[in-house]
Amino acid sequence: MNKNNADTAFFGQPKGLSTLFFTEMWERFSYYGMRAILLFYMYYAISKGGLGMSQVTAASIMSIYGSLVYLSTLVGGWLSDRVWGSRKTVFYGGVLIMLGHIVLALPAGETALYISIALIVVGTGLLKPNVSDMVGGLYDLEDRRREAGFSIFVFGINLGSFLAPWLVPWAAQVFGFHIFGNEMNFHAGFSLAAIGMFFGLVQYVLGGKKYLSTNSLTPSDPIDKGDLLNIIKWVVIGVVVIAFVLGIMASVGQLNVDNVITLLTILAIALPIYYFVAMLRSSKVDKVERSRVKAYIPLFFAAAIFWGIEESGSVVLAIFAAQRTVLHIGSWHFAAANFQSLNPLFIMILTPVFVALWDKWKKQPSAPEKFATGLVFAGLSYMWMALPGILFGTSGRVSPFWLVGSWFLVEIAEMLISPIGLSITTKLAPNAFRSQMMSMWFMADATGQAINAQIVKFYSTGTEVQYFMAVGVVSVVFAIIMFFLVKKINILMEGVK
Ligand code: GLU
Ligand code: ASP
Repeated sequence: MNKNNADTAFFGQPKGLSTLFFTEMWERFSYYGMRAILLFYMYYAISKGGLGMSQVTAASIMSIYGSLVYLSTLVGGWLSDRVWGSRKTVFYGGVLIMLGHIVLALPAGETALYISIALIVVGTGLLKPNVSDMVGGLYDLEDRRREAGFSIFVFGINLGSFLAPWLVPWAAQVFGFHIFGNEMNFHAGFSLAAIGMFFGLVQYVLGGKKYLSTNSLTPSDPIDKGDLLNIIKWVVIGVVVIAFVLGIMASVGQLNVDNVITLLTILAIALPIYYFVAMLRSSKVDKVERSRVKAYIPLFFAAAIFWGIEESGSVVLAIFAAQRTVLHIGSWHFAAANFQSLNPLFIMILTPVFVALWDKWKKQPSAPEKFATGLVFAGLSYMWMALPGILFGTSGRVSPFWLVGSWFLVEIAEMLISPIGLSITTKLAPNAFRSQMMSMWFMADATGQAINAQIVKFYSTGTEVQYFMAVGVVSVVFAIIMFFLVKKINILMEGVK
């Protein structure tokens, strides 16, 4: 028995899991707490403590920001494998994230917003993939506790994501109202996000020293001298290309937020295409592996559509909560931002139900069938949101239970897609592209949100019925196509289940 198998200090799991659990819990606390109020911070009038941006631009920024946070995991995975090892990469990531929230806590306007976004995008890219990777590293490959360990870890994600949309807006309101005489003091909310990440970092450093393996201190595939020149070459090319494109945009007077968002959308769509082509053409990928990569393409599409809808909860549904929803049940009053806790709440409630279901169900559907069913639920969660407008018109406010119902439906979809997708991604990965394939999973989310960054521009109270219907129908139509392809995809998976 090795050291880890003997270590059962944290719910029967190694003590290192507790360190990683709380690191990720606090990181997600800071991220989702910040996002719960960020949208409103951007479009609230300056007199109400906001930045006074247009609602359309604010929604588009929310989406592209969410996209970049997952795109940057590509860089984080690479830096960990080749430069710092996971332990240090996570630490640097956490520090950048905390700084990002501190910058927003300062009353420094739009400039601070963009600096904060840059810090948190890079920081999350460094932290998120590598914390998960270290969870895997706590166990021997044969350790039967592995899956349960990941479930506990995911519970930590959702616990942080659940608490923050209550506590962060609460901080913003309490300090806003009582101290500044304002409806909201967003900066007080962002301060609490920074404090959360600070707690996460402190316990990460203290616990890490004691409970995390020293393997995590060194990169698995360090850069040698030969690679270094090549890497420097590509970094220089990258910087020159970016400077060139931005320079041209500036010289024709087109360097503005909207156009930068459009460019980033193109990048988030082009990158997965590039990765698929590279994997399919690589000589390191054999025939069976190539077939599995092909099977992953429709799954990737489905995941991108699903994440697009799921992630729009912090954008489109947040706007609906603020503008179209009655913000009390009887005498119980709440803030629009509080609705963000419904997503993680339903995950925590539904996960054990689905674990039991898959456990009991002998001839359960295949992964592509689960994906297709998930897309039906995601589509329904949107079509459901078209109903209040159809039934009562779009001028007044409706019951909060419309949103509760929508989140319930989309979380059934999440149960059918997210855990299944994670596991099928590792199984379909060609040997030579293991970590890149994991990044593909985050990229599906990034691509979904990049598309959102363009389509949310069409969302407003006046267009909500058409918007929810159109996107919902796209999801269901894709689900139907997928049901027709199930047999084919299963054959392409070459024995993977
Ligand atoms: N919402 C989850 C998280 O924050 C999932 C993100 C994803 O897998 O794309 O960890
Ligand atoms: N659904 C997210 C995740 O899977 C949580 C959230 O959006 O709050 O953890």
